[in-house]
Amino acid sequence: MTEFKELGLNDDILKGIKDLGYKEPFPIQEAVIPVLLAGRDVVGQAHTGSGKTAAFALAMLQKIKPRNGIQGLIMAPTRELAMQITEEIKKFGKYTKIRVVTVYGGQGMGIQLDALDRGVEIVVATPGRLIDHLKRGSIELRDITHIVLDEADTMLDMGFIDDISFILDLAPEDRVMSLYSATMPTEILRLSEEYLNNPKQFLLSADDLSGDGIDQSFLVIKDRDKFKYLIDFIKPIKRQCIVFCSTKYRTRDVAKFLHQEKFNAVAIEGDMSQHRREQTMGKFRSGKADILVATDVASRGIDVPTVELVINYDVPNQELLYFHRIGRTARAGAKGKAITFVSYSSVGDWNIIKRQIKVPLEDLNQKMGIQISIPDPLKRQMPSRRYGGQSRSNYSRGGRSGGYGRSHRDGDSRDDRGGGRKRYSDRGGKNSYGGRSRW
Ligand code: ADP
Ligand code: MG
Repeated sequence: MTEFKELGLNDDILKGIKDLGYKEPFPIQEAVIPVLLAGRDVVGQAHTGSGKTAAFALAMLQKIKPRNGIQGLIMAPTRELAMQITEEIKKFGKYTKIRVVTVYGGQGMGIQLDALDRGVEIVVATPGRLIDHLKRGSIELRDITHIVLDEADTMLDMGFIDDISFILDLAPEDRVMSLYSATMPTEILRLSEEYLNNPKQFLLSADDLSGDGIDQSFLVIKDRDKFKYLIDFIKPIKRQCIVFCSTKYRTRDVAKFLHQEKFNAVAIEGDMSQHRREQTMGKFRSGKADILVATDVASRGIDVPTVELVINYDVPNQELLYFHRIGRTARAGAKGKAITFVSYSSVGDWNIIKRQIKVPLEDLNQKMGIQISIPDPLKRQMPSRRYGGQSRSNYSRGGRSGGYGRSHRDGDSRDDRGGGRKRYSDRGGKNSYGGRSRW
């Protein structure tokens, strides 16, 4: 058994880890930490819930010096994830003198400016707000030595890539940079070569996106029957559950329904005020709410260890998102369950996802004896959509409308920045500006 100590971490950091009760490093931590400490770039692909945050955060904490300017920059796609990473770093770094701040849209500038004025060594940011700070000079990147892109395949995808390259151009060239995600399509890996210097890559096989511990099943039903089944599935839940919906509107609707049925549910979607988003996440993380109804704003990175069930109330718009959504359960080696509701019109989308699930998948129609009677025109399996068969070669920049499939019809954003935002567009095409967030 390898111990954290053997990875080259110093006593202050080891004390922080001990306080958290971590007994031994998880495999991605054991793999990545020594490489980062040696100053080499990394691509770290590992399953959801496998401890990628500590992999980059521990190495960064060790390499950064107190009172030496902003040396560490971590970027994440959503505000909630950025805040979560900050909280983790504070715990790991409890016995170090390293200070960390979250820079994200929706929060007043004042709080962030005050924190920056007092001095910080690590900034965890969503790209839009970081650019605001860079433009007004409240953050400078000249002292940066370590950069992380968490959920890197999203960060290098079209919705964010212009912002990311703008930011990276301002940082010194001789930095250690690393990328993390549970999904790492070939196109993204290729693109990452522009930013990384001879990285050491830790990759999963394209057949192994599900990981262990999640008991996956699906049920094909009429859209109007979904609510009834939702209630049946969440009633027996003892701990917590996340229900993912395809749009903000559906998210609000499902949450309303659940309230009417006296469930203790909270909702999160990108049009809510930042105050409400934080309230929601606070209630869910503290266990004051049992059910989180969410758009894909909560599909990546969010770590709430007590989630035992994920319900895809709607089939995700993009195949890799399926693995991120279900990965909100079964964190850190725990067990969990994921149930996907497939409406008749989503059967084609679901079949695309299903082909990528290489672990046993339970057919609840069979198990529960529920007949499907799909009207003829909808039986088609969407032949127009290209499918490469393997996730790495199939990250849709080509065949489908782009990395996030249809998700941007619900609005779009680079991150959750208020104000004008770039809309998702074809690679090389012009960006237009819209006002609502993607999720
Ligand atoms: P990922 O980013 O890979 O999805 P996280 O970094 O969010 O995963 O970690 C998932 C969970 O595992 C968190 O609750 C974290 O506290 C826990 N964890 C991380 N490393 C360890 C470890 N070495 N031992 C025990 N728990 C750990
Ligand atoms: Mg993560």
